[in-house]
Amino acid sequence: MNGSNYLKIKAELLVEGVRATPEALAGVGTTHKEQNHGLFGWDFEDHLGTALPDDFVLPDGSVVQFRKNSKSPYEIDRKKNDLVLSLADEEVCNVRWIPRPAYYSTKTSGGNSMVKIGQVGGEDCLFFCYQNYCSHFSKDEQCLFCNLVSTSDTYDSVLRKKDNEDIGEVAAAAFNEGMVRHVLLTGGCFNHQKEVDMVSDILASVRRHTGLGRVPGTVLPSPAKGQDDARRYYDSGIKAIGFSMEIWDERLYRAICPGKSSSTSHDEFVQAIERAVKVFGEGNVYAVFVMGLEPRETLLHGVREIAARGANVVPFVWSPNPGSKLEGHRAPTGKWYVDTALEAAEIIYDAKVPPGTENHCFRCDGNSLLHDALRLKGVE
Ligand code: SF4
Repeated sequence: MNGSNYLKIKAELLVEGVRATPEALAGVGTTHKEQNHGLFGWDFEDHLGTALPDDFVLPDGSVVQFRKNSKSPYEIDRKKNDLVLSLADEEVCNVRWIPRPAYYSTKTSGGNSMVKIGQVGGEDCLFFCYQNYCSHFSKDEQCLFCNLVSTSDTYDSVLRKKDNEDIGEVAAAAFNEGMVRHVLLTGGCFNHQKEVDMVSDILASVRRHTGLGRVPGTVLPSPAKGQDDARRYYDSGIKAIGFSMEIWDERLYRAICPGKSSSTSHDEFVQAIERAVKVFGEGNVYAVFVMGLEPRETLLHGVREIAARGANVVPFVWSPNPGSKLEGHRAPTGKWYVDTALEAAEIIYDAKVPPGTENHCFRCDGNSLLHDALRLKGVE
């Protein structure tokens, strides 16, 4: 099987979800990395009390987010020492779970469980959510695809407020054990001036504890509207920055993200990206989209516009997850995702945007197809 086949399988697994037998799940949460719901939940069904893998790896190295769906035609079972993925009882390929980081079982000097502070995304990305809160929920104006509040209420598995020293200690533990290569920092939506200060303090702690000069990785803050904000984020010591635009088409953006669009317009996002590219450099800025809620044409128009400004794109494959307004809806087909991701890769490749893989790579995310599509063109 070649890489483009694995891209198709990954797209199908993200769209259809997957089941796993109890035999396959043995060791998840002890020797293999489990979900800890650091921010959103991506499964099609809640699974309180059952440890499920966060993600898994296909034979070509593609990382796939595990999205539980007990009705999925895809199943992972254990056969002797192998984990085997099947589609309607036909074997597709072997897969592997990802090892559980050793620091998941340790505590900070303040006595907090490290796994409740920072989690590893994919195989190498250390994730910190510095504030599990979004003001849009209180007015019922949350983005229609978002289940932040329901995930936090259902699982209550991470600390909602994290101490900066604890974050630094977790970063040191994670980098020292050699698994992670970059960080991803994000919060909900709040006063952006306070957020710049908060991110600066967190990164100061991460740098002090790890000894890193500039931290490889990305901060995804609320849109930086001030002229100097990009500079202030850069000076905090992070190498890359991203902005969650979610939807490129302006009218759909306003409909799908009522609260977010009333506080930050489409144009303000684009301007924030332009300013950030000037400070962070080409390839070190990301526009993050939810892929599957707008037509291919408008999404690809957005990819073209972003790439023309020297920035990269991270398009997450939409999950109609529990607790979101769109729970129970259906995503486009796997084929739609593959075709659109391949075309987006072509656009980014032709625009010669530096890949920025020092800060975010195909091993970081199991819920995006673009890195995998770019790998087919030799970009890693
Ligand atoms: S801005 Fe939208 S996606 Fe982000 S946390 Fe709030 S509701 Fe969720």
